[in-house]
Amino acid sequence: MNIADNIKRVRENIAETAIKCGRNPEDITLVAASKTQPVHYIQQAILAGVDAVGENRVQEMLEKHSHSAYEGAPLHYIGHLQSNKVSKIVGVCDLIESVSSTSLISAIGKKAVSMGINQNCLIEVNIGREPQKSGILPEQLDEVLEFAANTAGIHVLGLMAIPPIFDVSEKSCNYFDIIFKLFVDMRAKKYDNVSVRLLSMGMSDSYVDAILAGSNMVRIGSALFGER
Ligand SMILES: *Cc1c(COP(=O)(O)O)cnc(C)c1O
Repeated sequence: MNIADNIKRVRENIAETAIKCGRNPEDITLVAASKTQPVHYIQQAILAGVDAVGENRVQEMLEKHSHSAYEGAPLHYIGHLQSNKVSKIVGVCDLIESVSSTSLISAIGKKAVSMGINQNCLIEVNIGREPQKSGILPEQLDEVLEFAANTAGIHVLGLMAIPPIFDVSEKSCNYFDIIFKLFVDMRAKKYDNVSVRLLSMGMSDSYVDAILAGSNMVRIGSALFGER
């Protein structure tokens, strides 16, 4: 397995897809989802030009961070986030993609203010309404963005979603379409400290469909690093 070759191939697919729908390939951010990957693989991915690296577990991320794993690329947190871990990642991550409640927004804002910074975040939407998944429900989004707009220290840049897994890619596409519509609706509204411009959706097996549906940030693991 060659990480640089994999990245090149994924980039080509991204570019081809973007062009197919009349968009600029450069507007699509490639996030390497690096859970379980060792520091030297992550460094290879960064050298090969991924735009960012995303981690799922706070402890694992801090451990690898202490070994300079993410040097040279922005660091995203993409995993489930518990309130008691917030203080460990604010200011360490350039973007927290998985903010899924108003209590997390409060905790992140409070920590960021105490550090004198603004924390960039995405709001995770539970698009399939799956009880085992985190994320706010679509109908709560307006209220949650309003809440974020009134919270100091947090800057919301968009939405993130992990649609339900189906064998048939058509069904995922429906979810991608639903979240894109939500994204467009929210982008049209005006909130303080909220600029809805990033839509993070699409993984190894779905990024082409996600981009076709309007995603501008894809989180890709196994297609870059091989099966976990
Ligand atoms: C692991 C992970 C990915 C990447 O998954 P692959 O199928 O390996 O591409 C994307 N997003 C999140 C939140 C993940 O946990």
